[in-house]
Amino acid sequence: PGSLYIVGTPIGNLRDITLRALDILKTVDLVAAEDTRVTQTLLNAHGLQKKLVALHEHNEREVTERLIADLAAGRSVAYVSDAGTPGVSDPGAHLARRARAAGLPVFAIPGPSAVATALSVAGIGDGRWLFYGFLPNKAAARRKALETLKALPYALVFYEAPHRVRECVADLAAVLGPEREIAIARELTKLFEQVHLCRLEEAEAWLAADANHCRGEFVLIVQGAAAQAADAGALRATLEILLAELP
Ligand code: SAM
Repeated sequence: PGSLYIVGTPIGNLRDITLRALDILKTVDLVAAEDTRVTQTLLNAHGLQKKLVALHEHNEREVTERLIADLAAGRSVAYVSDAGTPGVSDPGAHLARRARAAGLPVFAIPGPSAVATALSVAGIGDGRWLFYGFLPNKAAARRKALETLKALPYALVFYEAPHRVRECVADLAAVLGPEREIAIARELTKLFEQVHLCRLEEAEAWLAADANHCRGEFVLIVQGAAAQAADAGALRATLEILLAELP
C-alpha cells in the first residue's frame, strides 16, 4: 500500500518548512489539503506543482474513504492543514485514525505548531502545560470551561480568534483571578509578531490600548494555579517574618 504522511506546514513565515516536508510534498502522488488555495500558495512559494484534493470538516468522511482507497491501491498521500500541525485544533485526526485502522502506514512529518512556538518564547511555566485549544464561543460556556481548569497546576494554553480575544481575556481574569501572568502571543513568525506579558487584570486594557493589539492570530498562555499559589505562599511567608519584627 501507499503511505500517508501527516505534514506540518508554516504558521506564517512560508520558509518555516522542513527539508523533509518539501521532499514528501514533492514525491507523493496526492496532496490532500484543508483549503487547496492556501496550500497552493505554499507549493508555489517552493516551486512545487501537485494535484490537490480538498479535505475539510464538511467533506471529511466521504473524502477520507476515497483517500483510504487510494492508499490501499498503492498511491502515497500527504495531508496538510492551513497552517501548523494537522490534528492540533485542525482536521487530520480522522484521516490518520482511519488509515491506521485499515492497517495502512502513517508517518508524521513534524513541523511548526502555534502552541509549541508560543510556549518557546513566552517563558511561562515549568515545562508542564495543558493545551486547551479554542474555548467555547459563548460567554457562559466559556466561563464554565474555565472553572474546570481553575485549580490545575499547569500553564494553560489557548487559541483565540481576533474578534473574541478581548472578551476571552476578560473571562480569564474573572474566573482565574486578576493575579496570574498571561502571555499574549500574536502573529508569531509574521511581520507584526508580538509577545506581551502582563497580569490577567491588565490584559484587557492592553488589548484595548491599540487597535493593532487585537489584530491577527493569538495564542494565550496563562500561568498555572500552583505557580501563582507558590508566589502567594512565598509572599505570605515574607509577610509573617516582617510581622514578627513589628513591636
Ligand atoms: N494546527 C495549527 C497549529 O498547529 O498551529 C493550529 C490551527 S487553529 C485552526 C488556528 C489557530 O492557531 C489560530 O486561531 C491561532 O489561535 C493559532 N495560530 C495559528 N498561527 C498563529 C500565529 N502565527 N501566531 C499566533 N497564533 C497562531
